[in-house]
Amino acid sequence: MKLQYKIIILPIMVMIAIFSVGILMVEYQVRLTLENKFKRELQTIALVALAAIESKNYKYDDQLTDDSFDRTADKVAAMSNVRVSYFSYNDYLLGDSTLDFNSIVNNQPYRQLPEVVSAIANNTGFAQRYDDHFNNVFYYAKFDVNRGIVARVSAPENFYSKPLTEIRWGFLMIILAALLAIFIFASVAIRLISKAVKQERMRLQNEIAEKTKEITLIQTMTTMVNDANSLDDAGIILANILPKLLPELSGALYITKPPERLLSKICFWGDWPQGLHVVVSDNSDSPSFELGYSSVDEGANNDLSIEAFIEHSFGVNLVADQHIFGKIFFTNKDKMIDEGTRNVIQHLVEPINCALANVQLKIQLREQAIKDPLTNLYNRRYMLDALNNALHQADRYDRHVAILMIDLDHFKDFNDKFGHEAGDLVLVRVAEQFLNNLRLEDIACRYGGEEFCIICPDTNLKEAYQLAEKLRLKIKKLSLQCQNKKLDTISMSIGIAVYPNHADNGHELMIQADNALYLAKKNGRNCTVVNQQNSSLG
Ligand code: GH3
Ligand code: MG
Ligand code: MG
Repeated sequence: MKLQYKIIILPIMVMIAIFSVGILMVEYQVRLTLENKFKRELQTIALVALAAIESKNYKYDDQLTDDSFDRTADKVAAMSNVRVSYFSYNDYLLGDSTLDFNSIVNNQPYRQLPEVVSAIANNTGFAQRYDDHFNNVFYYAKFDVNRGIVARVSAPENFYSKPLTEIRWGFLMIILAALLAIFIFASVAIRLISKAVKQERMRLQNEIAEKTKEITLIQTMTTMVNDANSLDDAGIILANILPKLLPELSGALYITKPPERLLSKICFWGDWPQGLHVVVSDNSDSPSFELGYSSVDEGANNDLSIEAFIEHSFGVNLVADQHIFGKIFFTNKDKMIDEGTRNVIQHLVEPINCALANVQLKIQLREQAIKDPLTNLYNRRYMLDALNNALHQADRYDRHVAILMIDLDHFKDFNDKFGHEAGDLVLVRVAEQFLNNLRLEDIACRYGGEEFCIICPDTNLKEAYQLAEKLRLKIKKLSLQCQNKKLDTISMSIGIAVYPNHADNGHELMIQADNALYLAKKNGRNCTVVNQQNSSLG
């Protein structure tokens, strides 16, 4: 049986039980009322029957010759539909509506009927007997003391119980109709409810599927950002996935550059306006980063929409080791971001924050592995990789690669004169000069103690020479102080070798550059020497 019908059956059974008890109670009350009414009717008919007797008195020892009682009984019975009998005060049957006069005459003198005996004794008598023909029969007898006559009326029970049966049937029909209606209503209601439940279940399943998709997307995004090798790579991932998670919002990721405490935009998504930048309110304990714009930068965007963007924006700081290292902004140009969405953003940014901190840490570790801590130039190991890389590129595009081998002159003496600290300062300043005067693609490395090597991709001999001289002069002109003490100027010797002019591999190229440097030292230092093989500057 279907569950819905099982659900209906129980209340219907309960209702049937309640209805049945109800019917029994109603029937009992109705029966009582009808029975009382019936008895009153019998009393009235008995009085009528007594009133209908013409004769004044009737003696018990008289021979019954008069059939007037019998006729009167017939008449009253015909009027009232009950059996009417008359008895004398000494219990003779005088007339009966169901018997003819002859059978009355031949009747036994003493009948000793309880209702008649009771009526003679107490004025009224009532009895109820079983009859083969009529089943239960009610008898009522009334004694007229003055005339010594008892009028007895009787009627079977069904005389009044007929309407009871009709009422019972009526009730039964009403109950059946009610139960049927309840069954139909309940079936329809259950069907509607189960349909609604099914729809709700579908809705929940869809919601769960959506949530699962969202969680998977967040996990994928976090894993991908974690695996990213650079902030730019991480930015590309975020700019692709965040609009899928929060389609109504635009946004941008800003990361600080530690020394300058500036925020640079790593990526953006949606309609993020180009004119926006981040303003740092520099309270040294806890800097706060807010969006701002300058109308010069904004280009096509108009001021109003940018102001709306800023006003509607919501930013979450990115924190690692209790330091803010960036901020992610979200904005909706049409309305403020509501509280619920802000909570979603906070939760979403948590794993992104972690992943970005990991990426930064990875970058930092990688930097540490490939950079010299004192000068922040690349170290020797990285240089060898970078050189091979540059030679590969040069091969592919048929270009030159120049390397400059640089050694500070008489640095031992310098150290001896001014101390190691001053020597370190010189190394740092020289490195700064390199970084400030090189192209982005040039790779400056600290090769050893006071020796440097600069790899210049896509640079021919002439350009390399010009660069070397430029650097040499810059260093020569450096005026440095250490602990308020003016330091001597420093000079450097530079040897140049160019690929493919002087060598066909990195190792050989370095040897050639070193040879040139050796010559520069030999030539009196503070000069640039180009490797002598195939060394036409033109
Ligand atoms: P040359 O002109 O022939 O190159 O003379 P030099 O004194 O520069 O050459 P040398 O190889 O004899 O000495 C190199 C000196 O560089 C030795 C050392 O005191 C100094 N030096 C190397 N690394 C460092 C460093 O990290 N810090 C400081 N302060 N000095 C360093
Ligand atoms: Mg040296
Ligand atoms: Mg030296």
